[in-house]
Amino acid sequence: MNEINIDAISTDEVNLPGWKAKNIQLSVLRLDKIHPLISGNKWFKLRFYLDDAKKLNKKTIVTYGGAWSNHILATAAAAKKNDLQSIGIIRGERPAVFSSTLLQSQESGMKLIFISRDKYKENFIPNEIEDENNYIIAEGGMGEKGVDGASTILDHCRREEFTHICCAIGTGTMMSGLINAALPSNHVIGISVLKNNPGTEKVIQSFIRNNQSAYNIIHDYHFGGYAKYNSGLLDFMNSYYSQTNIPTDFVYTGKLFYALHDMVSNDYFPEGSKLLAIHSGGIQGNNSLKKGTLIF
Ligand SMILES: *Cc1c(COP(=O)(O)O)cnc(C)c1O
Repeated sequence: MNEINIDAISTDEVNLPGWKAKNIQLSVLRLDKIHPLISGNKWFKLRFYLDDAKKLNKKTIVTYGGAWSNHILATAAAAKKNDLQSIGIIRGERPAVFSSTLLQSQESGMKLIFISRDKYKENFIPNEIEDENNYIIAEGGMGEKGVDGASTILDHCRREEFTHICCAIGTGTMMSGLINAALPSNHVIGISVLKNNPGTEKVIQSFIRNNQSAYNIIHDYHFGGYAKYNSGLLDFMNSYYSQTNIPTDFVYTGKLFYALHDMVSNDYFPEGSKLLAIHSGGIQGNNSLKKGTLIF
């Protein structure tokens, strides 16, 4: 597997006719470029957990996720890079055929343990992982250290140039970190990819320590819920790629960019706004779609 390359992050200006007419600029912070498989924001969320695990002399990272989880794959790769072992507790029975995510995680040395959906829901801890050498990271890297790691995302751009910083929201960890690192002149906009999840607001409130900037959570673009999609979203992703050369994923960033385009059409952003959209990666999850669905 390739190395993670943080220097590959760029801020790409995207010029689309509809936006120009409204005098709104869009730049994309390309965290997706750090690695072809490892989701950009997951690496940022993991970095301080890994530092902590090493400081505590732990040998093995244990974490949780589904069969297509960006977090599982990123943890496998990041643990390997840090000379740590890793164990992934995977939601659901062991499948006959592994997803590409699981195969690649295994290739990075991750040991996979499958537990039933019911047990997973109860936060069941398999016996194998009760070991003092283990360092446990919550699903999605959610927690204070994840938030602090996500704050460092903005070290890779000139945040003072933007009026709005926009991201997709799953657990809310990344958005909390962005809010903590934002300037008073940055308005942070999060697009939730979950349906009926008012808990997100509370999670984000609990993680915010340095709230100088305004922020809003938008709940209108989940497309039916987590990892749900329709042809409108897939068509948008294909046309977005042909216009901008930027690939997106159907779980997070496709919904983010779709939302921003819709919000610009509906005049959500004042004229003269300069948007920074965080491309948080996640492209590997598109492998769960039928081949040929996407043009990239
Ligand atoms: C996990 C993930 C997110 C959401 O991050 P949270 O911190 O859970 O809100 C956004 N984009 C991608 C590509 C992800 O993998």
